[in-house]
Amino acid sequence: MDLAAQLHLPLERGRAAELRCLHLGRLGRYADAVKAAHEALPLLQGADQRSERCAVLRTQALAASESQAFETALGAANELVRLARDHDASAALDAAMALAACFERMGDPWQAERVLADALRVHGPNASNWLNLAANNSLCVIGIGMLHRLLDSQADDAELQSLLVHTRGAAERARDLLEQLPNPAHRVPILGNLAEVMLHQGDLAGAGALLRQVLELAQQHGLQAHAWRMCTSLADWHLAQAQPEPALELALGVIKEMGAIRQQQTLIRARRSAYRACRALGRFEQALQHLEVAEREERRDLTKKMRAQSELFVSRAEAQQVQWQADDARLEAQQQRQRAAEAAASAERDPLTGLGNRRHLERRCAELLPAAQRELRPLALAQLDIDHFKSINDRFGHATGDRVLTLLAQLLQDGMRASDVVVRQGGEEFVIVLPDTDLSAATDVCERLRERVATHPWSQLGGPDWQVTVSIGLATAPPYELAPLLETADAALYRAKRGGRNRLCV
Ligand code: GH3
Ligand code: MG
Ligand code: MG
Repeated sequence: MDLAAQLHLPLERGRAAELRCLHLGRLGRYADAVKAAHEALPLLQGADQRSERCAVLRTQALAASESQAFETALGAANELVRLARDHDASAALDAAMALAACFERMGDPWQAERVLADALRVHGPNASNWLNLAANNSLCVIGIGMLHRLLDSQADDAELQSLLVHTRGAAERARDLLEQLPNPAHRVPILGNLAEVMLHQGDLAGAGALLRQVLELAQQHGLQAHAWRMCTSLADWHLAQAQPEPALELALGVIKEMGAIRQQQTLIRARRSAYRACRALGRFEQALQHLEVAEREERRDLTKKMRAQSELFVSRAEAQQVQWQADDARLEAQQQRQRAAEAAASAERDPLTGLGNRRHLERRCAELLPAAQRELRPLALAQLDIDHFKSINDRFGHATGDRVLTLLAQLLQDGMRASDVVVRQGGEEFVIVLPDTDLSAATDVCERLRERVATHPWSQLGGPDWQVTVSIGLATAPPYELAPLLETADAALYRAKRGGRNRLCV
């Protein structure tokens, strides 16, 4: 930094300041890292220094929350989120992870969960696999943290179960993404979290097998902290099956091996397992000792559960960048294939409502109709048209007309089976194909739809007296051909219009 200053090289000076900050963060010198970030940020104001600026802000956010300077942490994380927003999806997801880590360490895992889940929904589909994996794993770790809190506070069972389901979902998504990453060491934290959730869900057979597998993997790769964590979970697994002896042996092994190493969370858990095992064995004095140590340590370190995990990701995100770039290149090809598939799909989408379009209808019918004909299964096709839509546009404007179309598309889709095909064929006309549905069932479905539209509270969009209705024409196979089915349905629709609208004709 000094040399670059002397030589008047501002870019190099900024880069050096960035590296110094990240290095201090990685050494765990959090207060120094925060100070270094303060020094580095004014040197990184250039437009082409954005990614350096992001890296410094992220380190500042995490280091400040580690040293309990939460105001600084949140300030940095929020600026990071702002900066990353119009960058790319991976940067935005990365920023959300930093913000979530701040909330988590402030003792608010609920807020952390919201931030991260929202970011995953919005940015996940366009972010790298690696960040999806990391974010899902963080979500899982946050969930496990919440789980321990709920268990401590004896929360109601429904809340626990719902949390378990969500956490398991995150763990399984992370696991599925693992398969695309070659480094087997990545499996350890991810599968370890999944096993822990399974254990809490009472899935003992699945949890036991996975815990042993992860333990072996952790030992193979010298990931000692994770191996201890797995041993502790295995102790709990034995306890869940009323086997206090092997549980105690495992817990005492962890306590002895960990010695003075400050990996609080595992040690506290091992103490708790030992306490429960001793109690089950009637060794009450020993049990009390373990419990006292656990309680003391827990109070001392209540909010640090996530530290090992997020440090793992933060430092790994730097140390293994090279390897990820290789991963990225490999994934790039795959993403290209995916983009091609998406482009093909979007050619069949109506951009306003998100429904399929006429082209989609034709492709799906080319599959559905011959299949139905071969097996002589019934099939119905309905054509649906909004009544007096022109006057809606005239009275409330085209934008409101568009909202009606979007909402109607939703109403149609919500009322349908997954196998039904709902498309916007153009303007305010929709077509619905109902496989395996005979005339009487299709009549019921259409009548229900018509009713649903007519009774929907449309007044939210327009004035208080506002109403939207549809007319529907229904046709059934045979013939198993799209053009005559559409023609018949259209003729029925015409009769419905003439008969006064807001009705179904067959
Ligand atoms: P009917 O009950 O006989 O069906 O009367 P209608 O007014 O619904 O039928 P008409 O075919 O006369 O008018 C259809 C209107 O739909 C005219 C057109 O401006 C409007 N429209 C077509 N596509 C769109 C669209 O994408 N957005 C909006 N807002 N309006 C559209
Ligand atoms: Mg029309
Ligand atoms: Mg119309």
